[in-house]
Amino acid sequence: MVRNMLPSLQAATRLARTATRPNVLKPRWEGALQCTKRDFSITPCRPLMETSGFTDEQLTVRDAIFKICENFPDEYWMERDQTETYPHELHAALAKDGWLGIALPENLGGSGLGISEATMMLQSIAESGAGLAGAQSIHANVYATQPVSKFATEDQRDRFLRKIISGEWRTCFGVTEPNTGLETLKLKTLATPTQDGSGYHISGQKIWISSAQVATKMVLLARTTPLEDVKKPSEGLSMFYIDFDLNAPGLEAKKIKKMGGRAVDANQVFFENYFVPKDALIGEEGQGFKIILHGMNAERCLLAGEALGLGYAALDKATTYAKERVVFGRPIGQNQAIQHPLASAFMHLEAAKLATYHAARLYDRSSPSHPEHDSSITSHAVGVACNSAKYLAAEAAFTACERSVMSMGGMGYAAEYHVERYLRECFVPRLAPVSREMIMNFIGEKALGLPRSY
Ligand SMILES: Cc1cc2nc3c(=O)[nH]c(=O)nc-3n(C[C@H](O)[C@H](O)[C@H](O)COP(=O)(O)OP(=O)(O)OC[C@H]3O[C@@H](n4cnc5c(N)ncnc54)[C@H](O)[C@@H]3O)c2cc1C
Repeated sequence: MVRNMLPSLQAATRLARTATRPNVLKPRWEGALQCTKRDFSITPCRPLMETSGFTDEQLTVRDAIFKICENFPDEYWMERDQTETYPHELHAALAKDGWLGIALPENLGGSGLGISEATMMLQSIAESGAGLAGAQSIHANVYATQPVSKFATEDQRDRFLRKIISGEWRTCFGVTEPNTGLETLKLKTLATPTQDGSGYHISGQKIWISSAQVATKMVLLARTTPLEDVKKPSEGLSMFYIDFDLNAPGLEAKKIKKMGGRAVDANQVFFENYFVPKDALIGEEGQGFKIILHGMNAERCLLAGEALGLGYAALDKATTYAKERVVFGRPIGQNQAIQHPLASAFMHLEAAKLATYHAARLYDRSSPSHPEHDSSITSHAVGVACNSAKYLAAEAAFTACERSVMSMGGMGYAAEYHVERYLRECFVPRLAPVSREMIMNFIGEKALGLPRSY
């Protein structure tokens, strides 16, 4: 079986590292992928996306993920979407080969790679045809664990993250609230210390929480000091890594019916005096907003990658169809009215790809623990790059998906041709985790120095 022949992530990354050293005989994976050293790659591992300039590690990740995803064909995703069934098998396959720990420390069983490689992993999952649903089935485990990894104590890290990497536990991310939406600093969920000091009681509501039906843990942002008692609204929020036990008193999750990505549930979550132990607090009380921001920039990169994957997958389907479908005596792709919109969609994806992997590189290299840490990279530069990348990739994906549907005529609208599913899914990167408008507001203020507009 193909899966048994695959290299584990550790083996894959070891190979990539070996391959970048000169004069070293490169090991080969039996029957699996062979990525040779590339200063500038000449052999794309997959069609469509131009792979020049990526590192060996990124291309090794890409190849290995595509191999795993070969076991999950288009029909699997169409069926999961239609029946709204969670893709447990993909999560398990990725966990089995160690991929869930791609950006977590090696001493916890992770691979110690960065968001640059994790973005490639999520892009490749989406691009394989799994789309946003496939990527979202593991997405939070990769980005929401970043602030836990950085700010938790050694003991917390050890207890919390190993089981995420092994796939035994799954994480969801609880920030958005029904009454405050994008105004995160106004969120109302309260964590009140218990009288005996053993922990907190959580009360409040969250909305749109992905994977809450299958999660065992939640990264939760809640207020520990009421808004009226803090100097700045960014103060008084705390980040918790809580047990998410739907059988325990005071916790409920209700599924929301939605347009796309239906294989992965999104939920309203209700807390009513839900007890969490003191030990669930990550970092200092009141510093939760700063802590969680660390995960949010990573999330923007991952989602940009997922959007790119959707866009390339759609273009792949549309160009294949345009070569084969003959009307008026020639393939429809010979008509410039079909060819040019697809060509321009490709160029937009390629440009967004550069912005995405630039942002991921800045994110990684701004970290003092990165081997190629660059102290000149400011948090401002990281924020501008990650937000811009998410915006550009989401728009490029939308253009590619919409044009793919239109260029396939009636079949673009048929579920069995899959592009309608990609089009439904590609709205998510446009509105979450932060909307297009809020990114414009951020860039207007932070990059252009214009007065704050919101
Ligand atoms: C499928 C899906 C999965 C999600 N998963 C998660 C998850 O796992 N965890 C989680 O915490 N959240 C999740 N979200 C929530 C998501 O991050 C929010 O939906 C998103 O941040 C937008 O918030 P809102 O829906 O409350 O919009 P609102 O804040 O109500 O805004 C509505 C619209 O008004 C615009 N707007 C508001 N204020 C301004 C302004 N000042 N200037 C210009 N425009 C403005 C916004 O851009 C937006 O278009 C998910 C959402 C979806 C759809």
